[in-house]
Amino acid sequence: MSAVKKGEAMEQAIISQAPQLEKLIATTAHEKMPWYHGKISRQEGERRLYSGAQPDGKFLVRDREESGTFALSMMYGKTVYHYQILQDKSGKYSMPEGTKFDTIWQLVEYLKMKADGLVTNLGEACVNGKTAGKTPSLPATRRPGTNGYTPPPRAPSVLKPDVPTDREVLPMDSDVFNPYHNPNEVRKFNIQRTQLLIDELELGSGNFGCVKKGTLTTESGQVDVAIKVLKSDNEKLVQDEMMREAEIMHQLSNPFIVRMLGLCKAENLMLVMEMASAGPLNKFLSTKKDTVTTENIVNLMHQVSMGMKYLEEKNFVHRDLAARNVLLVNQQFAKISDFGLSKALGADDNYYKARTAGKWPLKWYAPECINYHKFSSKSDVWSFGITMWEAFSYGGKPYRKMKGPDVMRFIDSGSRMECPPACPERMYEVMKECWTYKHEERPDFKKVAEYMKSYHYSISNKAKPEEAAAAAAAEPIK
Ligand code: AMP
Repeated sequence: MSAVKKGEAMEQAIISQAPQLEKLIATTAHEKMPWYHGKISRQEGERRLYSGAQPDGKFLVRDREESGTFALSMMYGKTVYHYQILQDKSGKYSMPEGTKFDTIWQLVEYLKMKADGLVTNLGEACVNGKTAGKTPSLPATRRPGTNGYTPPPRAPSVLKPDVPTDREVLPMDSDVFNPYHNPNEVRKFNIQRTQLLIDELELGSGNFGCVKKGTLTTESGQVDVAIKVLKSDNEKLVQDEMMREAEIMHQLSNPFIVRMLGLCKAENLMLVMEMASAGPLNKFLSTKKDTVTTENIVNLMHQVSMGMKYLEEKNFVHRDLAARNVLLVNQQFAKISDFGLSKALGADDNYYKARTAGKWPLKWYAPECINYHKFSSKSDVWSFGITMWEAFSYGGKPYRKMKGPDVMRFIDSGSRMECPPACPERMYEVMKECWTYKHEERPDFKKVAEYMKSYHYSISNKAKPEEAAAAAAAEPIK
């Protein structure tokens, strides 16, 4: 064979192998990325994230030590969160319930655009020592659709201007395809009626009116929203209540609390909120008994404890924490909602005193709420215990058929609800601590969230038996 012919044959061979080579490059591409830190422990990941600036979204990807899987660690609110990156049987990567990708770097690119169940979108990379200063080049351009997604046909005008030319066009590069939203971006207090499309579909209702599904149009695209629509014949009192709820929600910003996006004053007064489409926790669990694991519930209740810790730090009392008021974005992501009874405490106050008793959820209330009308973060802790009981009973009704006065006698006599059958002993201990009679002796949310975190990590990190053992042997929360 002549040299020319040999060269041609070689070229043919390389071309025919191109898809495999491409795949090989793509599947190992993350190793060249500044955010990839290789095999390091969870603690070392935390140490690296905490060193230097700590902006929300700062992240790294690491190999989980024993299991051969990947983990994503990210900063939010000066706290590091860890997520396991799942890999399905066909080798695709995703966050729990999230969109699947062939490669880690594609998943990371996607998570920069869409939180997909994370506390927030990925932001700047926590740079590993090896690649600092270098700009990694991404694998060569591939045809759209090879990552399991088929982005819509696009004219150049629908591509974001900053899409690098040396890499594949990803679904999230298209404004048309990508309806992601960062709630912080669309947060606006006054929403124009023209920005809202209201569905007929009702998500729920109350004496104020109903909550409808809808779409909010903003500069960054369209977002699914939940819209609390005040009935037009409602009296001023109910209108004032809704304005107060909006006022409270407007001051809150936490991944585990339903965000208010704005108010729209049109044919009705409307409170526009981010959508938690999987609905109330109690209903979700009662219909999904067979598919939701205890670990899943621990994760959700850990999130609720973090949302409540945030409220406690901001000096807000919720006053209606219950499983019906924990809404799910998906099976792995919970948000606290319904601030209709909530109060902002004064800087020097640690409780709110209600002048008169109202239509109160007595079974969720601590003794001091019922006896003295005193509400504090500590009384929210009591309600958190009841909410945990509901969750671990898969949406069971607390105190079954007992009436309010029977419950009060039951509590006063020192009795407490029993451990639900599927509930881990450690979680029942937290509940009992939350039901400490004297509020001065009850743990605060800082303690409760800490305990939930350590238990959650111990069971979701089976690769580290010593940590699980330490958590199992940990002191009770007081
Ligand atoms: P509320 O009066 O706030 O308890 O809302 C009544 C019902 O509307 C709730 O139980 C939910 O089923 C539904 N709902 C309220 N807010 C939202 C939301 N942000 N996303 C999805 N559904 C919601």
